[in-house]
Amino acid sequence: MISIRTALGKTPDLETEILLCHALKRTRTYLFAHPEELLSSEQWEHFQSLMAQRAQGIPIAYIIGEREFWSLNLKVNRHTLIPRHETERLVELALELIPNRPDTYVLDLGTGSGAIALALANERPHWHIVAADISQEALKIAKENAQSHKIRNVSFYLSNWFSNLPRRQYHALVANPPYISEHDPHLQQGDLRFEPQNALVSSQEGLADLQCIIKQGYDYLLPDGLILLEHGYDQKLEVQTILNELQYKNVQCWHDIQGNDRVSGGWR
Ligand code: GLN
Repeated sequence: MISIRTALGKTPDLETEILLCHALKRTRTYLFAHPEELLSSEQWEHFQSLMAQRAQGIPIAYIIGEREFWSLNLKVNRHTLIPRHETERLVELALELIPNRPDTYVLDLGTGSGAIALALANERPHWHIVAADISQEALKIAKENAQSHKIRNVSFYLSNWFSNLPRRQYHALVANPPYISEHDPHLQQGDLRFEPQNALVSSQEGLADLQCIIKQGYDYLLPDGLILLEHGYDQKLEVQTILNELQYKNVQCWHDIQGNDRVSGGWR
């Protein structure tokens, strides 16, 4: 029989701890409080199978089926991108820049697991959030996440960007679209290998979808409505050029926590 201490090994790393927590359905605090507790053979086998998946490179978030974003524990699977810290910066900016009034309509394009839409909806229960995605499977996860957090002010649409959205104008449009170039070597590394390629990769050096959203988005914004887009650390100039060409006002770029140019936006 194997104890929690032995299962963790001499110098346990965070990933091993997370996987053992998942196999035992216990918190990390519990592991450290009960190092002598023995694993059942089912628990040991389950833990071993999780470790084996990780050894194959499968992202932790997909193995345990969840990732925390903006203090919300979100269900994720291979049909959704794994929510990133950089995207929390976009949420922070949206909360800062969109006037906090009732009856505010915000559109989140390419919602994936629902991360941005649900974070905004949870912070601003009186706003109406419209969340769209091209993937039926992703929308299913996003809806489950809304339900499990009892978030009721998000409506979901199966839509290829604007193709199937209600014709209305919004106070703000936010998106973390695919923006990685198909030639980017990072796609062959780490978690990205397992994530949905249509959530990561865009043509024209990663700019095609950003351009499409900026172009078509104009008509979906109210006067003074805000567009706020996540992009690659080296895409600031290109994104700003597109925004300026389309006559958005007061075009700006903001850093993520690592100091990279990450979010750009402007006002109609
Ligand atoms: N920021 C992600 C990455 O570089 C990509 C997310 C996206 O394409 N929207 O891993």
